[in-house]
Amino acid sequence: MSKVIILGAGMAGYGAARKFREENVEVLMFEKNDYYGGHCASYLFDNKWVFDDGPHISFTKSEKVKDIFASNIDNDYVEFQANPCNYWKGKWITHPAQVNLNGLNAEFNTQILTEMIDTYQESNPKIENYEQWLYSTYGKTFSENFPMKYTRKFHTTEASNLTIDWLGPRLYKPKLEEVIYGMLSPAKSDVHYIKEFRYPRHGGYVSFMKGIERTIDIHFKHELSSINLSRNEIGFVNGRKVKYKYLISSLPLNKLILSIEDAPLEIKEAANKLACTQCVLVNFGVNRPNISDNHWIYFYDEDFYTTRLSFPSMFSSDLAPVGCSSIQAEIYFSDKYKPLTKKPEDYIPIIKDELIKCGILGIRDEVLFSNAWLSPYAQVIFDHDRKPAVDLLHEFLIENSIYYGGRFADWSYAWSDESFLRGEHAAKEILRKIK
Ligand SMILES: Cc1cc2nc3c(=O)[nH]c(=O)nc-3n(C[C@H](O)[C@H](O)[C@H](O)COP(=O)(O)OP(=O)(O)OC[C@H]3O[C@@H](n4cnc5c(N)ncnc54)[C@H](O)[C@@H]3O)c2cc1C
Repeated sequence: MSKVIILGAGMAGYGAARKFREENVEVLMFEKNDYYGGHCASYLFDNKWVFDDGPHISFTKSEKVKDIFASNIDNDYVEFQANPCNYWKGKWITHPAQVNLNGLNAEFNTQILTEMIDTYQESNPKIENYEQWLYSTYGKTFSENFPMKYTRKFHTTEASNLTIDWLGPRLYKPKLEEVIYGMLSPAKSDVHYIKEFRYPRHGGYVSFMKGIERTIDIHFKHELSSINLSRNEIGFVNGRKVKYKYLISSLPLNKLILSIEDAPLEIKEAANKLACTQCVLVNFGVNRPNISDNHWIYFYDEDFYTTRLSFPSMFSSDLAPVGCSSIQAEIYFSDKYKPLTKKPEDYIPIIKDELIKCGILGIRDEVLFSNAWLSPYAQVIFDHDRKPAVDLLHEFLIENSIYYGGRFADWSYAWSDESFLRGEHAAKEILRKIK
């Protein structure tokens, strides 16, 4: 009987495994893929192009995580001042738009400003959903033209369907003078919550977790298929069965719960209420260097499928051949609100046309490489069903001594550093019991 089992070899699994290693506790790790990384994985194509599973950069404030990531690559990382941008109705607007509205139509800006002044005078507005939060923060015109449009594309649903417990520093609430200054002056206001970031020089984002190779022997190609709580036994699609005493899961919460054979019906029903987006990632390699000054760009217009565009070769020139650039587009879907109806590769010509339409690809640019894939768990949708379901499911796991941590295990918006620390936290809880 193995004492401790970790499910999933992503960042949370790494955080857990590293903690056990420090304490000399032997653990087993099982992973469905034949590689580690989870959402932090990076893929090499044609021996030349590296693309991550969606744009990944490290902007952690944790000195400990910074040190671990850096030591895994012998401090060979690049560091940047983040330079994001917005594309809106054919215009390029510095991010965040609310403090960089210079150059937009005067009537439009006057409307925005007037409404913002009104909202700033309102005390204790009623806020029960994200739409109300947006109206009370930015007023109607800005909200409906920027974040509410983006919400439909990124979260795949209306702002009124979302709660606000995911916001954190993500949406900047400016002072009125910042809004006015941004309307009057083209000087860009640098108030994005990500200021500086690090990225490995070689190999893509996954290099930050290379240390997992020295930490633990991972049992790859082990996809969890069942858990039997009364027998303390897990089963895998490949037929193997393993007994556990302590179990840590970094797997998506709904997947984990639905694999528990002896979970009550109300628990399975709650798992079915969890919603998340899927992301189609469309990648291009182009025969031109420095194709953009920006690291990533938000696309608001709903006649564009592209939701966010990023430029891996801007993170590290090592991700594309010399003299070339790479581009990655994200398009979001969800089973609950906006089901995907095409194959990922069907979006390649569509996105290429959008890149030409917005001027990123020029007439002389040659696309040397393209591909597309689906990332099935992308962003948690913080709809009104989420919190009661998550609370119930986590309580059930605790009652049954299943420990959990990570982005989709928590069903949260955790960044990679937070996922690492959540895995570590789950390990610490078990260590307290063992020792
Ligand atoms: C588009 C996008 C952009 C992001 N950008 C950033 C960023 O810029 N910076 C940042 O810090 N973070 C970013 N993140 C967040 C970051 O990717 C996550 O916080 C982190 O990767 C989550 O790690 P995890 O271990 O919790 O989960 P995962 O990475 O999902 O790992 C879970 C592991 O479990 C495995 N697994 C799943 N099902 C089974 C099964 N049945 N049996 C066995 N194994 C299974 C998976 O293969 C995977 O390896 C981004 C995420 C997305 C989606």
